[in-house]
Amino acid sequence: MRALCWNGVNDLRVETVKDPEIVNPHDCILRVTMSTTCGSDLHFIDGYLPGMKEGDVIGHEFMGVVEDVGREVSKVKKGDRVVVPSFVTCGQCWYCKHDLHSLCDNTHPKPELQEPLLGCTTAGIYGYTHVFGGYAGSHAEYIRVPFADQNCFQVSEALTDEQALFLSDAAPTGYMGADLSNIRPGDTVAVWGCGGVGLMAQQSAFLMGAERVIAIDRFPERLQMARQHVGAETIDYTAVASVPEMLREMTGGRGPDACIDAVGMEAHGTGLQYAYDRAKQFMYMHSDRGQALREAIQACRKGGTLTVLGVYGIMDKFPLGMIMNKGLTVRASQQNGQAYMKRLFAHVEKGELDPSFLATHRFPLEEAPRGYAMFKHKQDGCVRAVFVP
Ligand SMILES: [Zn+2]
Ligand SMILES: [Zn+2]
Repeated sequence: MRALCWNGVNDLRVETVKDPEIVNPHDCILRVTMSTTCGSDLHFIDGYLPGMKEGDVIGHEFMGVVEDVGREVSKVKKGDRVVVPSFVTCGQCWYCKHDLHSLCDNTHPKPELQEPLLGCTTAGIYGYTHVFGGYAGSHAEYIRVPFADQNCFQVSEALTDEQALFLSDAAPTGYMGADLSNIRPGDTVAVWGCGGVGLMAQQSAFLMGAERVIAIDRFPERLQMARQHVGAETIDYTAVASVPEMLREMTGGRGPDACIDAVGMEAHGTGLQYAYDRAKQFMYMHSDRGQALREAIQACRKGGTLTVLGVYGIMDKFPLGMIMNKGLTVRASQQNGQAYMKRLFAHVEKGELDPSFLATHRFPLEEAPRGYAMFKHKQDGCVRAVFVP
């Protein structure tokens, strides 16, 4: 089959690779019908996240049609149109039973690669380094889905492919971010980042009762999306002296009730602090640039909630004293998509949530390297590049 392979830092190629096979009786094989880029892919494409091997198939947000099932699969059958959350869950362990699917104890086949870095083992992710399990990714004609009954979610006829596709990752991650943020009716929620996850967190914050949502980014077309599709107020951080000050001004001096970081270690910023972070990252002394997170901590009202959805490694100059003295509640998680699928399907079917606008650009799989280049450099207003094998 054809698949998009990582061959080195900034070297992606579409190649012919071996077709996936059922290796465990709980597996299914999916014919991928749509797959999309994610900002977190850039971490290993750019060489900041270790654990890739030449020829690895990448991609972790996808949907498709079931082609074949293992003999122990009972709920999923050939021909089903399904969407699959990006973390692999077993459905049986303590974490899965407590809806903490991204922390599943049974789906990481190589814990020895991860424990030294994170001090724990997470669930495996498709197409996202050997540190996260080494599963083959979704930018391919076919993919093996382990524990098919737990990980494949049937999509109703009412949903288009683009609506279903983003229920794989961007929508549940954003929705979970709003869910973790203790939003009460009337609250003001600030969200750093207007990429797929940020926009979904903004839309979800309204669904959970926020009265005002303030979106922060620097790209005019993304800020426009936040206004037009979400109804958020926006701040272009390159146009203001201080984002926390601006937020205080917009909230009568108090600050937002909840602040969500949907940026992570790719954070771009302005000023001296940014130059310092960038220089250190360049020298690989630490991998993270934390401007968005620091701003969120500064801006949040006393006693408010800070939710971290952005992906981080190690960060220094972390203002823990500010968190403690302000009495902030800090929440953070990788996505536990399986826990939110039922609610998300209902929201999309009722027209309350529509992630399809994230699909700004569509490419045949053969042109995936071009799609990633466009996505990475945010050319032509690209929010997500979608690949159709
Ligand atoms: Zn993702
Ligand atoms: Zn589990």
